[in-house]
Amino acid sequence: MTPPTTPASATAAAVLSSDAITVLVLLLLAAAMVAGYIAACAIWPFARCRWCTGSGRKRSPTGRAWRDCGHCRGTGRRIRPGRLLLTSARDTHRRGTRPDRHRDRSRSWKDSAK
Ligand SMILES: [Zn+2]
Repeated sequence: MTPPTTPASATAAAVLSSDAITVLVLLLLAAAMVAGYIAACAIWPFARCRWCTGSGRKRSPTGRAWRDCGHCRGTGRRIRPGRLLLTSARDTHRRGTRPDRHRDRSRSWKDSAK
C-alpha cells in the first residue's frame, strides 16, 4: 500500500473504505451537476429548439420552401424543463406565503348576500 499524501486523505482513508469514498465522490459529483443545471435554468431559461436547432425555420415537406418551426412557433427557443420546475416551485411558494390580492379572506361569501 502507498501511504496517503495529505493528512486529510489519511483521516478519510482511516474512517471510510475505498468503496465508501468512491460512492461519496460520485454523490458529490451528482450534486454538483444538479446544482449546475439549476443555476443554468435560473440564468438561461431558454435553450435552443431541438427540432430546428435554433433557427426557428423548417423546410416544407416538399423541401422547396421554409416554414416556421411548429415546435417553437418560429422562435428557435424552448424552455428548459428545469426552469418549468423552478417557476412552478416559485409560484407554489408565493401562493402559500403572500396574501391574495384578488380575494379578501376576512370576508365571507355570506357577507355579500346581505
Ligand atoms: Zn424550433
